[in-house]
Amino acid sequence: MNGIFPGIFYSSLTTLLGALLGLWVGALWLPPALGAVLGGCVASAVYATLQALRAQRFLHWLRDTSLAAPRNQGLWGEVGYRVEKAVREMERVIVQQRLQRAQFLSGIEASPNGVMLLDPNNQIEWCNLVSASHFGLHRDNDRRQSVTNLIRAPAFVSYIQSDKFDAPIYLGGQGTRAPRLMVVVRPYGEGMKLVLSQDVTERERNEAMRRDFVANVSHEIRTPLTVLSGFIETLGQLPLNAQERQRVTELMGQQTQRMQTLVADLLVLAQLEGSPPPTAGRWVSTAWLMQQGKADAIALSAGRHDLIFTLDSHVELDGSESELQSALTNLVSNAVRYTPDGGRIEVKFELRPDGAAELAVHDSGLGIEKDHIPRLTERFYRVDGSRSRETGGTGLGLSIVKHVAQRHAAELDIRSELGKGSVFRLVFAAQRVRSVSVHTAADPPQTP
Ligand code: ADP
Repeated sequence: MNGIFPGIFYSSLTTLLGALLGLWVGALWLPPALGAVLGGCVASAVYATLQALRAQRFLHWLRDTSLAAPRNQGLWGEVGYRVEKAVREMERVIVQQRLQRAQFLSGIEASPNGVMLLDPNNQIEWCNLVSASHFGLHRDNDRRQSVTNLIRAPAFVSYIQSDKFDAPIYLGGQGTRAPRLMVVVRPYGEGMKLVLSQDVTERERNEAMRRDFVANVSHEIRTPLTVLSGFIETLGQLPLNAQERQRVTELMGQQTQRMQTLVADLLVLAQLEGSPPPTAGRWVSTAWLMQQGKADAIALSAGRHDLIFTLDSHVELDGSESELQSALTNLVSNAVRYTPDGGRIEVKFELRPDGAAELAVHDSGLGIEKDHIPRLTERFYRVDGSRSRETGGTGLGLSIVKHVAQRHAAELDIRSELGKGSVFRLVFAAQRVRSVSVHTAADPPQTP
């Protein structure tokens, strides 16, 4: 029996029983009324002490609710039961909320962007790891610190203090080693702020490359177009004799050829950049590849160079026949174009002891200064622009070779010495190479 009324009943009953006991015990030497009063008082005092003890135990439990609440009878039992139930419910809600918060924060943690929460005083409440790395913060030590003390870029400080967050701001990058960040602030709750940051270094670099590319293509096409339109004007306005007309037509043909080569290279590059890598299991005969390279070299050199082709192993390469041929043609064409007459060009295909295969194009030509080598595979990068154009170069050859190498998991290695010559090597990993028993240089491409 729990509750306040049973409590009153028990206290009254105890007092009554005490009074009766006092009356009975005190009958011998006390007046009956005094005995009853004394007995009632003693019984009430014992009952009150008992309740105080129970209250004390209850208070003790309240200080540390991790243990079970004391199992009391009567009023304190009821209070204990109800308070423990409320405490356990509250604990359950807290655990659930903590779990939800942890799940929410781990969701934000998984974001590829930086997320930071600021309180109304612009102090950091929380930030994810990405945000910490964007702004160079220490997640634990910098909590509760004013964000403007930690991120001191003037653009950021005035942005966060401006309360105008319609447009994002950009920090870092552009010639610095720091990443280029796009930062946007969104106010929420009562004066709180969400600071979102995104690393846009790569995006801006790609955008700049795209702009450069369009500018380069336009420039490359504009030059022959200007020349052509000049010739067309000449043909229309000047009375030319047959010989002059023949010469002008020839020059026009050269310019047209230049544009055709450029467009062809651009299409090859677009195809290499925009299509999935060649499907595995299509084997290309290196003998056939060398034969194609040799034919190109003979046609381009027209007897001006010593040409040596060596194929020391009969192997096949896993890859695309047209892409591999295009890479070799570009390397051979460069060797011929950048090697003065009488020079030596050697194309070698050999198997390395570790099973990898190496296709190397050596020349005794102009060579390249060390500083240029890392940039040679950039689109339209030329060491000597006029020589490249005079010899029909588009500035895209090595870019094509690099893409072919990447798509075949091959490495492009460039060694060169100014005035002595260059070696361009394509190294194919062993798993892309297989031996074939008998082949001759005249074999057709081997594709299943
Ligand atoms: P290009 O059409 O101008 O030859 P590439 O991309 O094939 O374009 O080559 C980039 C630049 O690298 C060339 O402009 C040239 O300056 C240099 N280069 C390439 N191959 C050789 C080589 N074998 N010898 C010397 N320089 C070379």
